[in-house]
Amino acid sequence: MRGKETGRHITVKPSPLGRGCHAAGVFISRSVTGEGVLAAILVACLFAAPPLAAASLYDQSVCRLLRERYTSGDLSYILVDAATRRVIATRWDAVTEPVPVGSLVKPFLALAYAQKHDFRYPTYFCRGTRDGCWLPRGHGKVDISSAIAYSCNTYFMNIVSTLKPEDVESIGQRYGFSIGQVPSGAAEMIGLGSTWRIDPRELLHAYILLAAAPRAAGAVELLRGMALSAKIGTAQAAGQNLHGVAALAKTGTAPCVHQPRAPGDGYAVILYPADQPRLVLLVRVHGVPGAQAARIGGRMLNSVVNLQ
Ligand SMILES: [Zn+2]
Repeated sequence: MRGKETGRHITVKPSPLGRGCHAAGVFISRSVTGEGVLAAILVACLFAAPPLAAASLYDQSVCRLLRERYTSGDLSYILVDAATRRVIATRWDAVTEPVPVGSLVKPFLALAYAQKHDFRYPTYFCRGTRDGCWLPRGHGKVDISSAIAYSCNTYFMNIVSTLKPEDVESIGQRYGFSIGQVPSGAAEMIGLGSTWRIDPRELLHAYILLAAAPRAAGAVELLRGMALSAKIGTAQAAGQNLHGVAALAKTGTAPCVHQPRAPGDGYAVILYPADQPRLVLLVRVHGVPGAQAARIGGRMLNSVVNLQ
């Protein structure tokens, strides 16, 4: 498997802890500034997590494993312990720089919609290309869970047509990510193009918050969609690499941020296992679609899990 993820291979120089191997106690979160009980509970949990003094042997082993086995310079990743928000291993240039993340924004657009509509999600019919969806033949009848699982553009273009920038800002605040300029058109709003730019650590944190509160209004349908994605949807290659253990996942394909430019970069967030996730991985792979990023992410998580 080593070095076969993509066409371009750049070996990262070995070092005792390695580039991007973060000591335990480095947290990705910034405090959640939103209002509401959920946010308050989550912030309380966040600060209750005891910071560790130094990188554990486990973290060091994971760092080394990923560094040695996944050498492609096309690959960026952040692996986080879901309970403590501790960054276990990371390789991501300019990690503080917000990046376009494509469809990874969709679950949060759904929450913005749900908040405005009594936490009821609609059903739409996707006719594919005619409706602006990426799947030419269309997804047919789509509810929120299948819209997340298959990342249906038609579904999300319909729901964002009812949203105002402040609706999305309020969800961003609640889940701890800042969105900068809110896109205006429906296509940009659902993650097409590069108007949406989010700090990758903040986005990862937002997914942790989402999975940590499955009973929050509007969340269960999204988590069901993410489980479906890892099983039979756009992230199914992640699920296949996890050998029967259910995970939650979402994929995205966004404009490339590298030089030389590729048609796009693939993103995937994978939370493992689906039930009370312990590990959360964000991967970005230069020049491939999100589905391919999910495959590599699944392999990486499988390597990490087998280490335990
Ligand atoms: Zn569709």
